[in-house]
Amino acid sequence: MNTRVLGTRWGAPVAAAVTAAVATMVLNPTLGASAAAPQSAAKAKAPAAKNVIFINGDGMGASMREAGRLHLAGLEGQLAMDRLTASGQLTTTPHDPKAVVTDSAAAATAWATGEKTYNGAISVDVDGNPLATLGQQAKAAGKATGLVTTAQVTDASPAAFFSNTADRGKQDEIARQYLDVSKPDVILGGGEDWWLPAGTPGAFKDKPAEDTSEASKGTKGNLIQKAKKAGYSYVTSAKELDKAKNGKILGLFANEEMFQQHPEGQGDVYSPVVDLGTMTGKALGSLDKNKKGFFLVVEEEGTDEFAHSNNGTRVLQSMQQLEKAVAVARAYVATHPDTLLVVTGDHETGGLAVEENDATDESGDAISAEDGPFTIRGSDRTFTIDWTTSGHTSVDVPVTASGPLSDRFSGKHPNTYVHDVLRQVLAPRR
Ligand SMILES: [Zn+2]
Repeated sequence: MNTRVLGTRWGAPVAAAVTAAVATMVLNPTLGASAAAPQSAAKAKAPAAKNVIFINGDGMGASMREAGRLHLAGLEGQLAMDRLTASGQLTTTPHDPKAVVTDSAAAATAWATGEKTYNGAISVDVDGNPLATLGQQAKAAGKATGLVTTAQVTDASPAAFFSNTADRGKQDEIARQYLDVSKPDVILGGGEDWWLPAGTPGAFKDKPAEDTSEASKGTKGNLIQKAKKAGYSYVTSAKELDKAKNGKILGLFANEEMFQQHPEGQGDVYSPVVDLGTMTGKALGSLDKNKKGFFLVVEEEGTDEFAHSNNGTRVLQSMQQLEKAVAVARAYVATHPDTLLVVTGDHETGGLAVEENDATDESGDAISAEDGPFTIRGSDRTFTIDWTTSGHTSVDVPVTASGPLSDRFSGKHPNTYVHDVLRQVLAPRR
C-alpha cells in the first residue's frame, strides 16, 4: 500500500486501487504489522474524532467472524475487522413485549438513538414517538452523511440512522424522509422498487426471472426524479458511480437486495452490480471533502440474509465483501487519524456453529442440515458450519474499533452504548 498517495489525495480512482490492493493484503496474515503501523504512529498524538465510519455486518456474531477468519485468513490468520485496536461485546435485547430476540430495526434504533424499542420500529420509541437520530444530528452539526449497503438503502439498519417510522416495511416513506428530512449526501445500495411508483420499472426491470415478486411499488411519487431535482447525481452502474462527481450521489443498483437470498443451489445469487468495497471507497472520497467531517454507515446484508437461508457458501462470500469494505475503511483511517472506525453486527443470525467435519454428528434436516465442508485458507483442512435456526439468536455480538474513542468499546455493554460513544463525535453538547 502506498500511504503517501493515500495521504495526498483520496479520490475514486485511488479508492478503487486501494480496494484491490488491500483486498489482497488483508488476506495475507504476514502483512498485518505493516498495515497497522500508520495507526500506532498516529496514536502518540491522539487527535480528536471528526469522522465516524460505522460498519454493520448484519447478522454477524462471533461464530460467523470465526468462520470468515478460517476461510479467508487461515488457522493463524486475522481478519481486517479483527485487527482494529479495541474490542468488546454488545448485548442486543430489544424492548418488545412480544419478543426476546431483536430484529435489525430495533437493534439499529438502539445504535442510532440510544433507546431500546420494539422489533420493526425505525427510530421511534415504544409509543411510536420519533427519536433524534445520529444521522440527523450529524447533519445538524455540519457534517456530511452517507449510507452504503448491499440491502435496500431504505432497509432497517441504515434507515434507523436517517428516518423515523413505526413500521420498517414503509420503505417508500423512509426514502421520502431521506429527501425531505435527513438528506444524507451519499446513498448507495439496492431498493430501487421503493423509489418509483408501480408501472415505472426504472433501470432494473419489474418481475425479473430471478425474482418475479420484484417490481416498483412506491406510493410517494417518482422519488428518483425528486432526488435529481434536489441535486443528486443518480447512478445505476459501476461505471456511472466511478464517474459521479463528489457531492450528493444516489446510486441504486438493484430492485431490492443486491443479491438473491436462497439456500445453496436454489437460485442463490451474489454478484452485485458494484461491490461493497467500491461503494465504500466512493462514499469516503466524496464525504471526505466536508471540512467539518462526516458520518458514514456501511452495511453488508448478505451475512444476515444468506444465514436466514442457512447458506454457508454465500455467507462466506458476503464476509469476504464485508472484509474488503473494512480494508478500504482501514486504509482511510490509517491516513486520517481523526476518524473513529467501528465494526460490529446488529444481532446473530442462524445460530451458526463452526464444527469439525463429522459424519456421525447430529444433523438437522432440510436447510438446517450441516453445511460444508468449507476450505481453510493456506491449509488442506476444512470445517463444517452447523445451523440451529433460520432466524436470529440473542447471543452477544463482537465489536471492534480503532481511532479516537475506540478504547471506549472494550468491555461488555448494551447495544445502546454505541450511541453513547458515537454521539460524542456526531451530536456533541454545545
Ligand atoms: Zn435478519
